[in-house]
Amino acid sequence: IVHWPFSVTQRPKVNWVQLAGHKGNFKAADEGTILKKFSENERQCFEKLRDDALLPFVPVYHGTVEKDGESYLHLADLLVKFDLPNVMDCKIGVRTYLEEELVRARERPKPREDLYNKMMEVDGEGPTAQEHSQRGVTKPRYMQWRETMSSTNTLGFRVEGIKKSDGTCRTDFKKTRSRQDVIQVFKDFVGENVDISKSYLSRLTEIRQALKASQFFRQHEVIGSSLLFIHDHTCNAEVWLIDFGKTTPLPEGQMLNHDIPWKEGNREDGYLWGLENLINTLESVGGE
Ligand code: ATP
Ligand code: MG
Ligand code: MG
Repeated sequence: IVHWPFSVTQRPKVNWVQLAGHKGNFKAADEGTILKKFSENERQCFEKLRDDALLPFVPVYHGTVEKDGESYLHLADLLVKFDLPNVMDCKIGVRTYLEEELVRARERPKPREDLYNKMMEVDGEGPTAQEHSQRGVTKPRYMQWRETMSSTNTLGFRVEGIKKSDGTCRTDFKKTRSRQDVIQVFKDFVGENVDISKSYLSRLTEIRQALKASQFFRQHEVIGSSLLFIHDHTCNAEVWLIDFGKTTPLPEGQMLNHDIPWKEGNREDGYLWGLENLINTLESVGGE
């Protein structure tokens, strides 16, 4: 009989890290999988992706499950194959809120004190005079402000968080905006390792190709979705598309370019433009 040093169920989930979203939104599940809090919108996306060119680039979807009276999406844990992974979440696109959120906030503005406080933490001069006096900021206004503070508007992507193999974790990139600053963050992430940035670049090129072939991509406004970068000391480097909570289907027959400017009403998200800038940024890091 072979005695393993530990049983599979006792094995701690050392690798798991969550770089965005509410902590309560995720639960550990069976070996190699995680549970993400259910959203009908995201479920529909994973269902449609089962039969799409993007399938090789999204976490395997195992359907929905109930646990302790809550519903979840059952997904592959992308970190499980890695040994002490370095992980980076990049939110892609020039816009991080849906057009419908903008319309709703205009018709029925709901200023929020928590968002006002978050804004004040980053920049005391962020809120307008009116927002100061009501001590409140609406959701789209907060999102738009964050887009201008970060590289979302200027580069079409922004870094949300980075966890490195040495255990350090940073999510304080709210003011990382200039191309030079982003290049520095990437350099620090890949550790100036040319093999890793090359692997990332080739994976991003495959993703770009798959996006251009994808029917799902043509027919959806992709908002708030991220590319998750993962590598470890074995130089295994992968990039995955995650978070379809705000990825919304267009009306029948309508399509997006994903690389032309957004004007309210056209629903463009700048996803491909952001990806292009992301590729250029990585090339500057040393992939070329
Ligand atoms: P938000 O909308 O605020 O970004 P969310 O609740 O929609 O958050 P996600 O963005 O999907 O959650 O995921 C949050 C974090 O959890 C990611 O940044 C990543 O670190 C981790 N994560 C998500 N899905 C996976 C996965 N399949 N495998 C490994 N890690 C994951
Ligand atoms: Mg996310
Ligand atoms: Mg989300």
